[in-house]
Amino acid sequence: MSEILYGKNVALNLKEDMKKNIENLKKKNIIPKVAIIRIGEKSDDIAYEKSIIKNCTNLGVNTETYKLEKSVSQNEMLNLIDKLNKDTEVNGILVFRPFPKHLDQELINSSISAKKDIDCMNPLNLEKIFEGKLDGFMPCTAEAVVEMLKYYNINLEGSNVVIINRSMVVGKPLSMMLLSHNATVTICHSKTKKLSSITKNADIVVTAVGKAKMIDEEYFSKDSVVIDVSINVDDNGKLCGDIDYDSVYGKVKAITPVPRGVGSVTTTLLIKNIVDGCIKQNI
Ligand code: NAP
Repeated sequence: MSEILYGKNVALNLKEDMKKNIENLKKKNIIPKVAIIRIGEKSDDIAYEKSIIKNCTNLGVNTETYKLEKSVSQNEMLNLIDKLNKDTEVNGILVFRPFPKHLDQELINSSISAKKDIDCMNPLNLEKIFEGKLDGFMPCTAEAVVEMLKYYNINLEGSNVVIINRSMVVGKPLSMMLLSHNATVTICHSKTKKLSSITKNADIVVTAVGKAKMIDEEYFSKDSVVIDVSINVDDNGKLCGDIDYDSVYGKVKAITPVPRGVGSVTTTLLIKNIVDGCIKQNI
């Protein structure tokens, strides 16, 4: 038997604290608000946007969406972000990534006020994580992995953690966050040799490759804790992770399902960041 690490329990736990904070803000006539900037009509962006709006509405957080054409100019983007930075009613700014190629991603990332940067795009917030300061905004997916491990009491101190991903959204910030929790971290990627021999010796394996069912039982031991961050679609059109769940379930200590795993925590943390940002901006 493997323990199944569902995201829902973690999300519910986080929402309890959040609800109290929202109630306290309401008593002062303050309602947290997020501005969402979506460029183009990509179906996964629209689905993500719907899920954020639904979750925000349920918790009493206001949303406003700016839908921009794919051809939006750099100046239009920067002007909009500047306007939102100055708007005292907006507590968080979320820009969906990746951007169209003609836009300068780095410039846009740094233009978002560090105080409203709920998805940790501004290098100032990333820098804090690399300095070991975990009290600011963190990339929600990486933070969701840490929250899952903490909630299920999976020991990090001294544990060997292997992360298969080196992106700025997942692998790099996550490695620094785990390091701050005294884990020993190895980062793997597409050029890593003998991947399965590395993962097999780890206590915890985090995968965010983006390839449906690429990883089977050969990569793990009976003591492995497996965190699957990826959201892929399999040959039958069903959502799945990087892990071949049916082959791995029962042969490891614990495993996250996809869907109903890390993804459920990511959106909750995004909303938590809006609320936390709102509190800090109104002290
Ligand atoms: P990405 O930038 O494409 O990163 C993929 C990583 O996997 C890269 O580091 C890549 O190595 C590595 N990789 C590719 N093929 C490999 C192989 N055969 N063996 C070992 N490593 C390999 O993607 P991302 O934006 O970080 O997202 C990764 C996944 O996370 C996606 O499936 C996405 O849907 C999911 N995601 C989930 C959430 C959530 O809330 N659960 C949120 C965001 C993203 P190189 O660096 O060498 O190319």
